[in-house]
Amino acid sequence: MSTSDKYSLETITEVRPWTDSLFSFRTTRDRGYRFVPGQFARLGVRAPDAAASESKDGIVWRAYSIASAAHDEHLEFFSVVVPNGAFTSRLSKLREGDEILVERKSYGFLTTDRFEAGRDLWMLATGTGLAPFLSILHDFDTWEQYENLILVQSVRTQAELAYEDLIRGFEGSEYYGEYAHKLRYARIVTREPVEGAFRDRVTKLLSSGVLEENLGIRLDHDRSRIMLCGNPEMVEDSRKLLTDRGFRLSRRGEPGHLAVENYW
Ligand code: NAP
Repeated sequence: MSTSDKYSLETITEVRPWTDSLFSFRTTRDRGYRFVPGQFARLGVRAPDAAASESKDGIVWRAYSIASAAHDEHLEFFSVVVPNGAFTSRLSKLREGDEILVERKSYGFLTTDRFEAGRDLWMLATGTGLAPFLSILHDFDTWEQYENLILVQSVRTQAELAYEDLIRGFEGSEYYGEYAHKLRYARIVTREPVEGAFRDRVTKLLSSGVLEENLGIRLDHDRSRIMLCGNPEMVEDSRKLLTDRGFRLSRRGEPGHLAVENYW
C-alpha cells in the first residue's frame, strides 16, 4: 500500500448493503495500523469538487468506528448514507477495488480500559452505533474479563437489524462458543412490530426497569459498566437517566461506570 505520514492508501475489498441507506464495507489494513476495540478511524475520500469547508487538499475526512476485530487483517465499517452528504454519498458509490485513505492514528475513548473491575458490560447502541460493540465483542479479553455481556441494538425497522446473524453466531462459534452463554442480546425495533423485539425506546425500557427485568440482570454500581453509542439524543438521554441513578461517567484518569460516543 502506498503511504504518507498522515494516512495510508487502502483498497475497498467488500461492500455489503443492508438497506437502501445502510451498508458495511471492508478495506485492506496497513500492517502498522493499531487500534483498541471501540475506537474509530478517520477515513478520507478524494472529492476534488467538494466545498472548501468540507475538504482539505481535495480530500474529505470522516470518523468511522471500526467494526472489525483488532486481530483481523482487514478493517470493517458500518455506515448510513446521509442524503447529500459530501462523504457518505461519495462513499456509498465506492466499489470493490476503489481506494480509500485511512489516517494512521486511531481515536476515541469508547474502550473497556476506561473502566475498573466491572462484572457486567452493557453495550447500548442505536443504528450504526453498533459498530464499536462488534469490535469489542470480537476481543477475547472482553469475554474473559466480564461475567455477562449485554448488547442492546435499537433500530427503526427490522431491515436495519444489521449483523443479527453475526451476533447470534457467537453461540456455536469455534472461537467464541465456550463464552457465548455470557451474551444477552436485546433487539429494539421502534417503528414496526417484530416478534421477540422490544418496541419502546431504550430510554423508556431503562427507566421502567423492563429491560433489566426481561434480560434477567440488574444495573448495579459495583457490577455494571455501561457503554452508549449512536444517536446523540439517545446518548444524552440515557446518560442523564443513568447518572441520575448514580452511575458516573469515566473521565481521563478517573474510571467510572459509563463511557459514551456520539455518532454525528
Ligand atoms: P435514529 O433516528 O438514530 O434511530 C435509531 C434508533 O434510535 C431508533 O430505534 C430510534 O427510535 C432510537 N432513538 C432515537 N432517538 C432516541 C432517543 N433520544 N432515546 C432513545 N432512543 C432513540 O436512526 P438512524 O437510521 O440510525 O439515523 C437517522 C439519521 O441520522 C440517518 O438517516 C442519518 O441522516 C443520520 N445519521 C448520521 C450519521 C453521520 O455520521 N452523519 C450517522 C448515523 C445517522 P425512534 O424510532 O423512536 O426514533
